[in-house]
Amino acid sequence: MLGLMQSQPLLISSLIEFAERHHGDAEVVSRRVEGDLHRYTYKDVAHRSRQVARALDGLKLAFSDRVATLAWNGYRHLELYYGVSGSGRVLHTINPRLHPDQIGWIANHAEDQVLCFDLSFLPLVQAVHSKCTTIKHYIALCDADKLPADSGIPGLQSYESWIGAQTSDYAWPTFDENTASSMCYTSGTTGHPKAALYSHRSTLLHAYAAALPDVMCLSARDSILPVVPMFHVNAWGIPYSAALTGAKLVFPGPAMDGKSIYELIEAEKVTYAAGVPTVWQMMLGHMKPAGLKFSTLRRTVIGGSACPPAMIHAFQEDYGVEVLHAWGMTELSPLGTLCTLKNKHDGLSADEKMKIRLKQGRAIFGVDMKIVDAAGKELSWDGKTFGDLHVKGPWVVQDYYKGEGGNPLVDGWFPTGDVATIDADGYMQITDRSKDVIKSGGEWISSIDIENIAVAHPAVAMAACIGIAHPKWDERPIIAVVKKPGMEVSRDELIAFYEGKTAKWQVPDDVVFIDAMPMGATGKMLKTRLREMLKDYRLPQV
Ligand code: ADP
Repeated sequence: MLGLMQSQPLLISSLIEFAERHHGDAEVVSRRVEGDLHRYTYKDVAHRSRQVARALDGLKLAFSDRVATLAWNGYRHLELYYGVSGSGRVLHTINPRLHPDQIGWIANHAEDQVLCFDLSFLPLVQAVHSKCTTIKHYIALCDADKLPADSGIPGLQSYESWIGAQTSDYAWPTFDENTASSMCYTSGTTGHPKAALYSHRSTLLHAYAAALPDVMCLSARDSILPVVPMFHVNAWGIPYSAALTGAKLVFPGPAMDGKSIYELIEAEKVTYAAGVPTVWQMMLGHMKPAGLKFSTLRRTVIGGSACPPAMIHAFQEDYGVEVLHAWGMTELSPLGTLCTLKNKHDGLSADEKMKIRLKQGRAIFGVDMKIVDAAGKELSWDGKTFGDLHVKGPWVVQDYYKGEGGNPLVDGWFPTGDVATIDADGYMQITDRSKDVIKSGGEWISSIDIENIAVAHPAVAMAACIGIAHPKWDERPIIAVVKKPGMEVSRDELIAFYEGKTAKWQVPDDVVFIDAMPMGATGKMLKTRLREMLKDYRLPQV
């Protein structure tokens, strides 16, 4: 017997329709490439998204055709999120920090038909457009009078004249909720990038789950600042969850420096912010010397790489902001776990609570997880045993776009490439990417643990721990360190700093000072490049 409830497909267009009808006057504020602040409401977003849909019809784009973006977080990008997916096309957000050759490769692989870009990426588009064989239409996200005269890009139009030629008289089409809605390529640190292809259904389920109280806890009373980019993993789904809850959205555009982010938080009464640790490090670096405080910010979700304890501590103790440590990846839309405490933790000491907050957290309903050994046997949840982290759920990848790389699943589970522990309460903690694990004398050393200690030193800005081949121990850890400007610390001082903070055999054998940390396109330390940089390095005692 089937249930007798209405069967409506879960479609992305329903989010913006809801926001328009029920939160029509909630604001969307954006720092623009032009430098000024733009503000309007969900009603306007909905109106202009329908104009986008009609403009795509005008280009004779077929159902499921790919529309690419190279854009910062901003209102026009949001309109594309809704207009492209809502009309049944696939939004392909491209990460502008990728190498131009990789961008060209990705655009061809996705068979993008249209590319919409912020003017700050004009030089990038000029460099790659001749390699993009499938793109027929180039749209600059600007007013008609800002369109560069001799761009060299064939048929370049301004977004405002492109959508301005359309009315908003458009009814969102209804179709199968399993239809592809958007796509995102992984960074492809080894080999070519592969694309996760999200569906309307996976996106809506993720948007519901992300808003839950033990996840991002979003509501119509929030003013949300996603610093995490819309060009990579859909800004952690915030553009969707914000519309679902009617929360105010505040977009930073290209101004991601500490001062601009701090000022935007204060000016727009931001209550909730989301970003990777490096962004917050810049902001705290700006606030501390100037003695600045927050007046409205209450919570921040930090993920993408491990959040160092020093940062959780600074946010909480110095600024009264709760840190929610989150873990996810492109293949998970991206949220997998998020760390909030349970009632049973209320009586714990500050140190004990910190130990839990450092973990990447509990599974969100919809994501199941397990840790397994090399033979695929499930390992125990004791908070100590390390294993390969596998996940499954309705917003976890099943196959990569075009079947690249073959079937990624093992017995229906997706191997994340991360190594983790899970404790008896279900809190997962990442110890490493499996390729970064350091094996010393048959034991594993968590590079994240070793890095967290180094960055707690006042003179250390960034630290990356890698294993160096050792004739007796197999591998020994060393730590590559970038010092804070104007601060000093010697090798021996830093080694001594580890005393009492970790087991003796886990203390790095050496410290290598470097001028800058190699960073990947998604704001993570690029250990592959660091290893190349240090290929001639030899351990002192060997
Ligand atoms: P990529 O495109 O580089 O795969 P993702 O943005 O998908 O980038 O990154 C996913 C990876 O980032 C995870 O598999 C994990 O290794 C790392 N990661 C994400 N969040 C955290 C976190 N909170 N702590 C530690 N590592 C994290």
